Amino acid sequence: MHMSSDPSRLGPEQRSAALERLNEERFDVVIIGGGITGMGAALDAVTRGLSVAVIEQRDIASGTSSRSSKLIHGGLRYLEQFDVPLVREALRERGLLLSKLAPHLVYPVPIIYPFRHRAWERLYVGSGVMMYDLLAATGSNPMPWHRHLSRTKLLEMFPALNPQRFTGGLLYFDAGTDDARFTMFVARTAAKNGAVIAPSMRVNGFEREGHRVIGVRATCLESGQDLTVSARVVINATGVWTDDVEALVGDRERNVTASKGIHIVVPKDRIEASTGLITKTKKSVLFFVPFDEYWLIGTTDTPWNLGLAHPAASRSDIDYLLDHVNALLAEPISPEDVVGVYAGLRPLVSGDVESTAKLSREHAITHPAPGLVTIAGGKFTTYRVMAEDVVNEASLELAGRVPESVTDEIPLVGAAGYETLWTNRERVARESGLSVDTVERLLHRYGSAIEDLIALIEERPELGEPLEGAPGYLAVEASYAASHEGALHLDDVLTRRTKISIEEPDRGLAAALPVAKLLAEVLGWDDATIERELDHYRARVAAERDSQTQPDDRTADATRMGAADVRTLAWE
Ligand code: FAD
Repeated sequence: MHMSSDPSRLGPEQRSAALERLNEERFDVVIIGGGITGMGAALDAVTRGLSVAVIEQRDIASGTSSRSSKLIHGGLRYLEQFDVPLVREALRERGLLLSKLAPHLVYPVPIIYPFRHRAWERLYVGSGVMMYDLLAATGSNPMPWHRHLSRTKLLEMFPALNPQRFTGGLLYFDAGTDDARFTMFVARTAAKNGAVIAPSMRVNGFEREGHRVIGVRATCLESGQDLTVSARVVINATGVWTDDVEALVGDRERNVTASKGIHIVVPKDRIEASTGLITKTKKSVLFFVPFDEYWLIGTTDTPWNLGLAHPAASRSDIDYLLDHVNALLAEPISPEDVVGVYAGLRPLVSGDVESTAKLSREHAITHPAPGLVTIAGGKFTTYRVMAEDVVNEASLELAGRVPESVTDEIPLVGAAGYETLWTNRERVARESGLSVDTVERLLHRYGSAIEDLIALIEERPELGEPLEGAPGYLAVEASYAASHEGALHLDDVLTRRTKISIEEPDRGLAAALPVAKLLAEVLGWDDATIERELDHYRARVAAERDSQTQPDDRTADATRMGAADVRTLAWE
């Protein structure tokens, strides 16, 4: 196997090559923002034959795209608002991802909707879910049909529910994914097709020719080096940072606001159930999402006007969730059962843009200056449609005909060969010396790229050992995160390539040193760098823990901001 010639690889050598290209080339499209929207747009544009670079200020998916409920869903609640086209479109995307584009990363999730009332609720929710399944059936839909549940059946599937409160329920299917890893796979697929992926690079200005935007000015946060990148058209895909980036071209309007949503992480065995759960609360929707050995439980929905990079969950956010959860369960869970917490910001497009700009479905595309196109809003599930729309708009700036989007025909890296490996997983286990369980887990995390990991273990058998401090992972996964998956810091690996920072009760403190040593080999860190990475990670964990004991947003934010950003520390 010639891994170094793998064009989807995002390792240190590829980063150097990417920086050279940024300095030298004039790109058709430069995209600011490496969340799912920006990476989706990169894949769309590069597979239409355009030259593309993505510039991301921190890590791939470090913004909202690693902090979602991790569902690929049509959005049952949009049916209540009769938004049938939106739901149909999202369900079509769900089917496409499950069956063709990312069968290794996207999986069905059974979810129950418990009823508190008798006939009317079953009729009302039942007809909504019937419509949901009918809409899904018009696309390629590999999901089972929903089922009505008696009270006995409901309690059999979800024994943890308080039997006094429920009269029956309904079982339906949606899909789930690891959002941060999914985004990284979209980035690798874009790289495989020729896109430059440049994390740790902050855009701080635009190059102009008169009014026209002809490029961006950026700073590499690893070296402190400034550079100018030329573009025929720039796409602003910065989510909740949209207005800050537009302010750099002098647009002072505030069009995108942020709403905070938090999740708590609870070990599977604390809540006995074989399915996920959805229920409505007064303010929003409450989800229990099964995720590996854990439940992700969320979410909240509150306005947020503080720092955007590291939104903090406060004591009152956590109490709010615990109160709602405990109103459903026979045996309450306590703050001690919460092993992890994360907070994300929804980019909400405000009413002004809706009335003045081209509003397409749930997302808005605007053209604030010649040479600059902005996309904001939408949701993870429909990233491919958003990408197509924004690249169509950007194409208006490019001379000559740009071919139509083809991403519905482009499986993500790791998809090709995945089904065959899955069918033969026992043989893969035998030949590699790994357990069948491990092979299954790796196939879900890497798809057919599992072959890269097995080759690395063959070269260095110690990489096949469980990771110290986080035995659910193998040592090779940390190493591969830096050599192939674009990770540049300890935090990238503990938070986004793996989920150790929210899965381990110590938030990854025990795994930090072993992981840092593995990264040091790939990234060429000296002892001082290892120390700096460890100090930063420990400070971050301490600040996050502290912030979660603070009473409100303002105090929680002030506490969280006590820990500096590793990407600024790297060169200051
Ligand atoms: P982001 O992921 O935030 O990406 C923007 C990027 O721009 C960031 O990485 C940032 O660092 C970068 N950036 C900003 N400024 C600069 C600069 N100057 N230079 C370079 N880079 C810059 N959707 C679903 O489909 N299913 C769900 O279950 C779901 N649950 C959700 C739950 C919560 C609590 C939240 C908050 C959202 C949820 N969503 C869900 C919505 C979904 O997560 C978002 O719509 C999506 O992740 C937004 O992606 P994005 O790329 O637009 O933004």
